Amino acid sequence: MFDHPDFDGHEGVHFFSDPTSGLQAIIAGHNTRFGPGGGGTRLWSYATPKDAITDALRLSRAMSYKNAMAGLKLGGGKGVIIRPEGDFDRTALFQAYGRAVQAVGGRYITAEDVGVSPDDMRIIKTQTDFVAGLDDGPAASGDPSPVTADGVFRSIKVAVRHATGRESIEGLRVAVQGLGHVGYGLCEHLHAAGAHLIVTDINKVVLDRAKTELGAIIVEPDVIHAVDADVFAPCALGGAVSEASLPEIKAKIIVGAANNQLASVEMGEACRQRGILYAPDYIVNAGGIINVAAEVSGSYDPNWVKSKLDALEITLKNIFMLAEERSEPTNLVADQMARERLKI
Ligand code: NAD
Repeated sequence: MFDHPDFDGHEGVHFFSDPTSGLQAIIAGHNTRFGPGGGGTRLWSYATPKDAITDALRLSRAMSYKNAMAGLKLGGGKGVIIRPEGDFDRTALFQAYGRAVQAVGGRYITAEDVGVSPDDMRIIKTQTDFVAGLDDGPAASGDPSPVTADGVFRSIKVAVRHATGRESIEGLRVAVQGLGHVGYGLCEHLHAAGAHLIVTDINKVVLDRAKTELGAIIVEPDVIHAVDADVFAPCALGGAVSEASLPEIKAKIIVGAANNQLASVEMGEACRQRGILYAPDYIVNAGGIINVAAEVSGSYDPNWVKSKLDALEITLKNIFMLAEERSEPTNLVADQMARERLKI
């Protein structure tokens, strides 16, 4: 573990298994300088358990950066559940996972991520209080995805203004990869603002809906990055910007919800050299954890959430300006700012 390329002084990496329910999970805590680790739990089928560990290490570090940059009283943590093969009892799985979260003793507070819903949070809540993203209760914040989508939409406007001087995104072509909880919400914002949508997903049902409701053009998943577009918005899983995909990306702006969009840190410089403005993912997609932080604070205040989204826009604009001044890639400028805040 200590030699793992993505190990970055993580405070704790916890492994859990429960043969009865089939649970195999990792809870990674990166840094708790500003508070307990806050970050969603992902349920995913990984090719190998090593891939799940890599995901947990990278995602928890990104949560430290994200929470520090959003000025939240949360540290960086992330839960990853390896999806059991075949049919499984979801209630038993999330009960076992709830016990795992409880065992970490409050150094990690969970919420939703890919493959996990408020219903699952309700099951976790039967085993531990270290859970947010609930849709009932005194400070319940519900599914964080709409707030994440709002933050991504705002970030697209900031990036377009910075790159082109345009105040409006009307008429712009935006390629959206992944129409899940965040991606579809983002498309609704973009459609309402007059943008043209080119979209993909591996789920045909959401594609049909996007075509009917939003007039979106549908393309195959393997070509979405390469379509003629002004903005590319990765909203599926990580690694959308890679050595293989980058030379084919025609958009000059990349802003999306997905965590870890750059397949490697070097992709940030590669974007810069190609004249592509990359908006660092953990700045752009902080809306969800901002919403969760409002719940964790004990009294959900929508005005506080809005003020944090306003601040997110300013942070992103500052990163773009600093990167330009220093002729440095935006991801490294953001990482440096985050690490300074975390004193690591
Ligand atoms: P989701 O599971 O609801 O949606 C993901 C979508 O991507 C699904 O519709 C899925 O079918 C699609 N997809 C998967 N593989 C694909 C592929 N190869 N090509 C095209 N589509 C593909 O997840 P979500 O909550 O919308 O999150 C999307 C991304 O944003 C994730 O990377 C997540 O970590 C990140 N994120 C989400 C939140 C949030 O509030 N939900 C917050 C921060 C970051």
